[in-house]
Amino acid sequence: MQAEIITIGDEILIGQILDTNSAFICKALNNIGVSVYQITSVQDDRGHILKSLKEAEENADIIIITGGLGPTKDDITKNTLAEYFNDTLVQSDAVLKNIQHLWKNYIKQPLAQVNIDQALVPSKAQVLMNVNGSAPGMWIEENGKIFISLPGVPFEMKALMNNIVIPKLRKTYKFPFIKHATILTYGLGESSLAERIEAWEDNLPVFMKLAYLPGLGRVRLRLSAKNMDMDLVETEMQKQIEMLLPQIHDIFVGFEADDSIEAILGNQLTLLGKTVATAESCTGGKIAESFTKIPGASKYFKGSVVSYATQTKIDVLKVPEELINSHSVVSSQVAEAMAKNVLDLFKSDYAIATTGNAGPDKGDSNAEVGTVFIAIATKDTVYSEKFNLGNHRKKVIRKAVNKAFEMLQK
Ligand code: ATP
Ligand code: MG
Repeated sequence: MQAEIITIGDEILIGQILDTNSAFICKALNNIGVSVYQITSVQDDRGHILKSLKEAEENADIIIITGGLGPTKDDITKNTLAEYFNDTLVQSDAVLKNIQHLWKNYIKQPLAQVNIDQALVPSKAQVLMNVNGSAPGMWIEENGKIFISLPGVPFEMKALMNNIVIPKLRKTYKFPFIKHATILTYGLGESSLAERIEAWEDNLPVFMKLAYLPGLGRVRLRLSAKNMDMDLVETEMQKQIEMLLPQIHDIFVGFEADDSIEAILGNQLTLLGKTVATAESCTGGKIAESFTKIPGASKYFKGSVVSYATQTKIDVLKVPEELINSHSVVSSQVAEAMAKNVLDLFKSDYAIATTGNAGPDKGDSNAEVGTVFIAIATKDTVYSEKFNLGNHRKKVIRKAVNKAFEMLQK
């Protein structure tokens, strides 16, 4: 089973927006076992759309089109589809009702004729109701092929894909439902882990499989389920994970989706019952942001002082002015003082501090561009490292954040 995606819109071809719709659709189709043969982006141009539809029909069984369904003159997808299928547009009462509802409750403006016209669809199309917008999705079956036209607005397109298109495709083609979960463990070798969970693994239902993916100091367990019954896959997956977790509670780090170093650190801190705070100069709060992106981070992340200006290091973090004058604001001494003092300020178990020069020029600190000092403090210890992280400002900051996490993990 093969699919082709056509994204329509001048904005894509002049480089104004990135075609993220295709990536989303590819993933969703791959998940149900449909491979994507080709992605084509075309302008809002009748001739180009007709040509790409014809080509797609030759290559693929399922053709998914996004964009160009709006009420304005430049949106011509619907008319072009009708032309392609030798069809006429007819009014869909259900779509008109939805539009009237949206206008009455959200837009609160008189309904213009162009909006009423959005309820016109090719007579051969089944309407895919778009509750988030006025442009309906459309499903047309012709010559054994399925053509699906979706609005370009990513949020509307995603809702239609998830709630209508994928379930409808699954019904039409009877694909088995596939689900994976990847569980990260830390600190136990592959064979010891296999031995420990042997009984659980032996009792997995026949439609489930376990794979061991060992890496540096860690083992990923990938649990897969494949069955026609979606509910069975969902419930069994959850049940088996619930049975497994207590057996690996001491080495469990997290699930693949959260496999960032900060997520791993967060889990480790939670397991240890420890907390962390940050004092950030050149990283400007990015370390704090990385921690707080993860739901539930308040268990281990206490807070941050973004002490960007030298005076803030003195006033808020109580770094002695003499220390800054006798060394430099970009120095190991200052980084260590920042870490120690933010640890006291937040009463955390660990603290991270950064001070450096991310560029583009030497600035007030007179430090070489890319020089960053990172310090880690605990109640009894403090140490720091000096890094040279290049001369690209954004990259220096990003690298400093990663280095900080690596240092904390040690
Ligand atoms: P509308 O009713 O809003 O006009 P539409 O179906 O006509 O919807 P477009 O006008 O093509 O869709 O696109 C609306 C917006 O959706 C664009 O301005 C763009 O921000 C976004 N968009 C469109 N196509 C894509 C795409 N392939 N990838 C990501 N975003 C897209
Ligand atoms: Mg539009």
